[in-house]
Amino acid sequence: APAKPRKPDWLRVKLPVGPAYANVRRLVDEHKLHTICESGNCPNMGECWGAGTATFMILGNVCTRSCSFCAVATGRPNEYDLDEPRRVAEAIQLMGVKHAVLTSVNRDELKDRGASVWYETVVQTKQLSPATTIETLIPDVKANWAALETMIAGGQEVVSHNMETVGSLYRLVRPQAKYDRSLEQIRRTKEAGKRTKSGIMLGLGEKQDEMYQAMDDLVANGLDILTLGQYLQPTKRHIEVAEFIHPDLFAHYKEEGLRRGLKYVESGPLVRSSYHAERHVNVPI
Ligand code: SF4
Ligand code: SF4
Repeated sequence: APAKPRKPDWLRVKLPVGPAYANVRRLVDEHKLHTICESGNCPNMGECWGAGTATFMILGNVCTRSCSFCAVATGRPNEYDLDEPRRVAEAIQLMGVKHAVLTSVNRDELKDRGASVWYETVVQTKQLSPATTIETLIPDVKANWAALETMIAGGQEVVSHNMETVGSLYRLVRPQAKYDRSLEQIRRTKEAGKRTKSGIMLGLGEKQDEMYQAMDDLVANGLDILTLGQYLQPTKRHIEVAEFIHPDLFAHYKEEGLRRGLKYVESGPLVRSSYHAERHVNVPI
């Protein structure tokens, strides 16, 4: 077997410390909330939480899916908490968040895919914090387009849905998802008049041509904003890193994406879909 690539210097990050970090920690715990920052072992917690921002994960912390890159637990979800929207809205208000990012696990077992909890969370957050802008990073609704309509109807400014990887790697990386179905979800989100955003992880073995194809497909389906970041293996049980992508190639992909018609591309080794998300609200589209 080929030698495992070693983690390069550009992936070293700051340790989480400081009063703002401690404040986010306390509010998340007190409100019994989940964050993808923690569930996903995100390397940017020092920076984001230190700046008073976090990405809340709603609808519990057990997912019906088993994407090979993801650190969220797979299983039969047992939480369906109708009080969660209120607690999320309250935590966002107390944190004084100017731009909130919300995401969720996949709830394939629910008829509405969790859409009503999604809707309530957005609406209640806007009620308590009218000046706060919201990005919702929504799951694959599995072609339940009525659920999609509800999920994106609460008044959020940005709707993201991550492609995660190129088409040829879906079976390996997102076994329960379909490349074309996720593209259709983005297209329908755009047709509903929303600002659209997606993310792709690099370093899973994708080829450059496949990246260009993915960008062209996204443009053709109405995508505005794309984030590109390095995949990092959360534990030994997850899919291995095939390659550490050099920052120069990230810069090249950004240029290519813009040339191919994307409105904004955030690209770099440590970029995550919620990284610098506040910048994406005002991108001219
Ligand atoms: Fe959380 Fe996103 Fe920041 Fe990571 S980049 S710490 S997931 S807000
Ligand atoms: Fe993780 Fe989302 Fe896949 Fe669930 S659907 S395993 S939360 S990436």
